[in-house]
Amino acid sequence: MIWRVAPSRLPGTLLDQIGQTPLLRLARVTADLPASVGVWVKAEWFNPGGSVKDRAALRIVEEAERHGHLHSDKVLIDATSGNTGIAYALIGAIKGFQVELVMPANVSQERKALVRAYGARLIESDPLEGSDGAIRLARQIVAQDPARYFYADQYNNPANWQAHFDTTGVELWEQTAGRITHFVAGLGTSGTMMGAGQRLKAFNPDIQLVGVQPADELQVIEGLKHMETAIVPGIYEARLLDHEARVEAEDALAMTRRLARAEGLFVGFSAGAVVHAALQIAAGLQEGIVVALAADGGSKYVSLGLF
Ligand code: PMP
Repeated sequence: MIWRVAPSRLPGTLLDQIGQTPLLRLARVTADLPASVGVWVKAEWFNPGGSVKDRAALRIVEEAERHGHLHSDKVLIDATSGNTGIAYALIGAIKGFQVELVMPANVSQERKALVRAYGARLIESDPLEGSDGAIRLARQIVAQDPARYFYADQYNNPANWQAHFDTTGVELWEQTAGRITHFVAGLGTSGTMMGAGQRLKAFNPDIQLVGVQPADELQVIEGLKHMETAIVPGIYEARLLDHEARVEAEDALAMTRRLARAEGLFVGFSAGAVVHAALQIAAGLQEGIVVALAADGGSKYVSLGLF
């Protein structure tokens, strides 16, 4: 059977569990801060696919279904450093469409294994070209057979940031009872920051938005882009940000380890980078509520041997 009309959300499936993630207070690593300054973590690894990207992937898929661009005889394809791919693969398994993912060959074994477990096809791009190489290869594959594919194009698809405008941003406002003063998130496609950031500014324009990037192009923090030297995502608007934070991979790793031991939070490296930046900002405040978005958990990085 071919769906010409978007199928419903399929109530009772895991898709209903995307979003509404917990907001957790950091207790130990904040010991030196005044009591009037709080640092909280938005725990995005609670999403069914294990990362923040479930939100964007679901919105991208449902918009495409609504417009008739995606149905069971189309193949969803995209370039991804991993988490969006895992999310597409999970959603494809539930909704019943095929998924092909272009990932740099050096992404962690766990990411490759996960997308294959959900039944997606993995196409490996040149590891030396990073996520930009994956983007270029995905474009080539689509150009060779455009009728076969729905090219999800998370870097340029407005549904990416709209997911965060409608969900993440609202949750942050509600979970802090409107007291959030700073929002800190990593920049990959930038969808999280563009969507949640714009929503927070609409609630209160004084909320400070802090985008986190690797300190330079040689620092690898999986999921984050060094914008100056990368293919800049079409959805990225630097002027929305109030501050930019540049984090060394070494500091991201140190904070990732510290969060597991001191707080019981086993997160991924981009989350370590984001919390590192959040604590630096918090250290300069007299009062405030700083929220750091932790994009994923640590289990997908175990094979890298860094813990
Ligand atoms: N951290 C990790 C681990 C990610 O996979 C991503 C997505 N590439 C991000 C942060 C950044 O999220 P966004 O694409 O919404 O900017």
